[in-house]
Amino acid sequence: MRVGIGYDSHRLVAGRPLVLGGVHVPYEKGEQGHSDGDALIHAVIDALLGACAREDIGAHFPPGDPRFAGISSRVLLRETSKIVRQAGYRPVNVDCTVILQTPRLRPFVAGMRENMARDLELEAGSVSVKAKTAESLGPVGEGLAVEAHAAALLETL
Ligand code: MG
Repeated sequence: MRVGIGYDSHRLVAGRPLVLGGVHVPYEKGEQGHSDGDALIHAVIDALLGACAREDIGAHFPPGDPRFAGISSRVLLRETSKIVRQAGYRPVNVDCTVILQTPRLRPFVAGMRENMARDLELEAGSVSVKAKTAESLGPVGEGLAVEAHAAALLETL
């Protein structure tokens, strides 16, 4: 068994979609980023890569690479699932926390879990997403950014 942790944050700006766990969340602002800016999936990718010691998201999907411009982060997650398996492991479970002041994410959590479970070939019961606010504190609490943390457990194939 191997465990990994991941973290990501993205600035929220007008004119961008807000995509978390592959779910488009209706909101006036979205994540700045080279891909679709899905901070939750980016944190999960880093947790998975960390667990099998295969560097990080930037090493596999460089932000300057035109192949990844505007790409759905779910494509990157499926690619990461392959990297994990090539390293000789498979995911057992993933646990995440996403921190966003507004809008409230609870109605979207089931969809996020289903999307990420499908991409990782897991049951939705093995992917947990916890949504919190920042209690109005700091840049996340002021609605300037979204933040995500993730842990992933792998087992040997
Ligand atoms: Mg990111």
